[in-house]
Amino acid sequence: MNKLLFGISGLPIGSGIKNINYATGINYLKSIGLDAMELLFVRNVNVTDKNKDIILKAKLDNDFYLSAHGSHYINLNANEIEKQEQSMVRIIRGIEGLAKVKGRSLIFHPGYYLKDSEEEAYNTIKENLLKLPYKEISYRLETTGKGTQFGTLEELVSLCKEVKSCEICIDFSHIHARGNGCLKDFDDFAKILQFVEDELGKSALDDLHIHMGGINYNEKGEKNHLPLLESDFNYVECLNALKYFNVKGCVILEGPLVEKDALLLKNTYKTL
Ligand SMILES: [Zn+2]
Repeated sequence: MNKLLFGISGLPIGSGIKNINYATGINYLKSIGLDAMELLFVRNVNVTDKNKDIILKAKLDNDFYLSAHGSHYINLNANEIEKQEQSMVRIIRGIEGLAKVKGRSLIFHPGYYLKDSEEEAYNTIKENLLKLPYKEISYRLETTGKGTQFGTLEELVSLCKEVKSCEICIDFSHIHARGNGCLKDFDDFAKILQFVEDELGKSALDDLHIHMGGINYNEKGEKNHLPLLESDFNYVECLNALKYFNVKGCVILEGPLVEKDALLLKNTYKTL
């Protein structure tokens, strides 16, 4: 990637377009100055043989970046082998759907610890990730917002080193929430990026996938998304750190104001 792109998760909300869909949504987002969309495959893979051509056309016409958020029903550390296998099928279906529209990254949360130790969960998840087919689309393991969910930065970076088809998705708001408000100033964000660079190399920062947005949390972690300006998430220092490390890739805004807050991020970044 040669720069940092900014986009939204799912469809825009302020376009005024009736029956907006991925294709018209992409055209609209481009018209207001955004660069990327994360398709939401969280309940089902909603790119099908019926709509794939118009989505792909909109993507190519607008030189748009597409990723997808995989199913919420993934637990590669489920107690039952059958449930682990179903999770693998959901990941593969997501990859297949995203490939139809030339997307780049499938983002998902790998699983839950349940009653396992961190090490047991890590090993089971690693074994399952190693079985996934190696494709041009990367599996992006997302840092999670709750202590019950597998996926600290350290766990996921370690998996990315061991499983070559996997890359990291840094959800800064999740890290902030999981740490009960731990990301306060520039150094807190810089430490994360330095760690990724040290462990995964400069190339990881040249094509990074990032989530951020306002977030509400308590000592148990994330509760819900908030507008950026109604939250204590320090997006300005986060963007400053991304600029300082010359990070390239894609920033996806998650939150109720959708494209409005994505533009706030992009416009703030431009002024730094
Ligand atoms: Zn997510």
